[in-house]
Amino acid sequence: MKKNIILLLFTSISFGQSEDKLPNIILMIGDGMGLSHITAGMYANNNKTILEEFEYIGLSKTHSLNYLITDSAASGTAMASGVKTLNRVVGIDENNKKTKSILEICKEKKYNVGLVVTSEIVHATPASFYAKVQSRYNYEDIALQLSEHDVDLFVGGGKDYFNKRKDKRNLLEEMSDYTFIDSFDEFKNSSSKKIGFLTYPGKPPSKALGRKPSLDDLTEISLKKMSSERPFFMMIESSQIDWGAHDNSLTYVLSELKEFDSAISKALEFAIADGNTLIIVTSDHETGGLSLSGGNVKKSRVKADFSTGGHSGSMVPVFSYGPNSELFSGIYDNTSIFDKMLEIIKN
Ligand code: MG
Ligand code: ZN
Repeated sequence: MKKNIILLLFTSISFGQSEDKLPNIILMIGDGMGLSHITAGMYANNNKTILEEFEYIGLSKTHSLNYLITDSAASGTAMASGVKTLNRVVGIDENNKKTKSILEICKEKKYNVGLVVTSEIVHATPASFYAKVQSRYNYEDIALQLSEHDVDLFVGGGKDYFNKRKDKRNLLEEMSDYTFIDSFDEFKNSSSKKIGFLTYPGKPPSKALGRKPSLDDLTEISLKKMSSERPFFMMIESSQIDWGAHDNSLTYVLSELKEFDSAISKALEFAIADGNTLIIVTSDHETGGLSLSGGNVKKSRVKADFSTGGHSGSMVPVFSYGPNSELFSGIYDNTSIFDKMLEIIKN
């Protein structure tokens, strides 16, 4: 009798919890996007950015475990897993222990999980969410780890790491539960539960050189696909803001930023309509030591100077919108981005 009451109580508690669906989380990373990049993008875009619609703003300290200036592997790992590690290392801490990422924790909590990027899907930032490797450049190893993972939807370049490998394995064939997509139309129309869309054999070109599909279209369709009776976690990266800044090309940076701004608009439209979606927009580090040195607001012209061909140590902004977005205001380490997301999904 007593046992039955306890059982009844337990059932009603767990039923009560499942009625309140956990929020969807969209983490959007502009690789290398510092405050000057955002400012330049804004003035170049008729003095507007969609980030003005966000509710809370914070600042993230990006240093890695061994350097004041981080790389994308260490900072990706920090945001994905809450652990400061060495530059170049993905998903492994200083004691050689594999970390568990927010994507992996979400998956355990029955979230749908997805990754959409404009670099190779095995590049350091997306890899931080699913791979554990001592060197971010072990792309074939990272591809193998993705093939053994449980990511529901992924979009990015780097197809050759899956089917033109030194070990002669064809991971696309081995991943028999996936539907591999070759075009945006196919992507739009597919109703498969598990989708891989490898957009280019290697590195996708820059937006200016014709990269397709656009990140805003991919964002819109991916969010539609991910939304179901289950909550979802999605990481969307504008990967090439960093590459443009390494090239010290303001034109390159601005065209990538413009596309990212549109992608953020699509995510925001989704979140507003959905009402239970948190969006976090941030960066892994600043690239180029960019400073705005002139321009013309009315003519949407900006002049900017780079002070390095590498990364810089400036804090990067964090913009948030939606349920629990207030948690992201303030100044904190990049590892806290993981801590805050964890707190939200543990509720
Ligand atoms: Mg990146
Ligand atoms: Zn970089």
